[in-house]
Order: sequence, then C-alpha cells, then structure tokens
Amino acid sequence: MRERTPQRQKRLEEVLRRRQPDLTALLENVHKPHNLSAILRTCDAVGVLEAHAVNPTGGVPTFNETSGGSHKWVYLRVHPSTEEAFRHLRERGFRIYATALREGAQDYREVDYTRPTAIVFGAEKWGVSEEALALSDGLVHIPMLGMVQSLNVSVAAAVILFEAQRQRLMAGLYDRPRLDPELYQKVLADWLRK
Ligand code: SAM
Repeated sequence: MRERTPQRQKRLEEVLRRRQPDLTALLENVHKPHNLSAILRTCDAVGVLEAHAVNPTGGVPTFNETSGGSHKWVYLRVHPSTEEAFRHLRERGFRIYATALREGAQDYREVDYTRPTAIVFGAEKWGVSEEALALSDGLVHIPMLGMVQSLNVSVAAAVILFEAQRQRLMAGLYDRPRLDPELYQKVLADWLRK
C-alpha cells in the first residue's frame, strides 16, 4: 500500500475535482485486454468517473500494462446485457450515442458533449450491435478518408472522448467539482485506500 502523505491526498483531490460523473463510455463486448486497457486510460485522461461494459459471460474483464494503472482510478461497471446497460444509463439521465460506420451517422464533432453523454463502442470484429444502434439517441462516426474502413476501437474512443474533453474544457466543466459531496468523499476514501 502507498504511503498516505498530504501530497498524495492533494494530488488525488485535484484529479477527483476534475472527474465528470456525466460523461462515460459503454464498451459493448470489447474483449481484448489491450483495447479495454487503452480505453480506460483515455477515460482517466478525460475525467470519466465510471465506464461501462457489456459482458454477457458475466466475467470480469482483464486488463494489461496498456492501462498504465488507470483501471484503479476509473470504475468499470459490467452489465449482463445491452438492454440492462442502456436502462442503467437512461435512469441516470444520459443521452446515448452509438458509434456506427454507416450512412446517416453524424460527424462526431457535431454532438454536444457538455450534456450528460454516454458513447457506445463496439466489438473489434462486429462493431456495435443492431440492438444498441436501435436503442441509441443518435449515431456518430469519425470520418474515414483513406483505404481502411475503420479505426481500432481504442483509437476511436480516444478521438471522440478527447472531443468531449475539449468541449467540456471550453464550458468550464473541469473548473469546479462535479461530484456531489457525499460521492466525492466516498470516492476519495476509496482512492486513498489504493
Ligand atoms: N466491422 C466493424 C463495423 O462495421 O462496425 C468494425 C468495428 S471497429 C474495428 C470497432 C469499433 O471501433 C466500432 O464498433 C466503433 O466503436 C469504433 N470505430 C472504429 N472506427 C470508427 C469510426 N470511423 N467512427 C466511429 N467509431 C469507430
């Protein structure tokens, strides 16, 4: 266990004050540990408090060194089904955008990410399921102008989440704590234990 110094607590509090409880990613059957780890690392960098995953096998996802330890600082809630994940997010007021490589999906830069937003990313091979596409409030894509049809899922997540970070920086959403005091104290106590 790390020593609980005032400097360490100060550092944790600085990071916690920038956490965004109303920005998240839903990873639908993203199984490869290096992709999962890389996405959580991006989530940490943009201030996601809790990410979500759908894993029907119920197993706990595995992480590797690509996470840079970020899985300790970004909570990951695993849902048994896409339907259940959407219900959970909707009950908490999220607008849900699914990434989709198809006509009709809007440019990811056109979305207002300062509102409570969840972005769904899909499996490496199959992409986001038809079920998730149908349940979403909107579809977004990153324009691809080259020969290859799609990006690696962790790269796509970074592109979109950093656009969300850019918008939220402009809107001042990192300038004041976004967690209610009770949750703030709960998370801080948990982080201090790590
Ligand atoms: N054949 C799959 C398809 O048609 O969706 C490709 C899946 S892609 C390798 C894996 C995931 O990365 C996608 O489900 C999506 O979440 C994300 N992704 C990759 N390229 C993207 C792009 N240009 N725009 C938005 N999301 C993208």
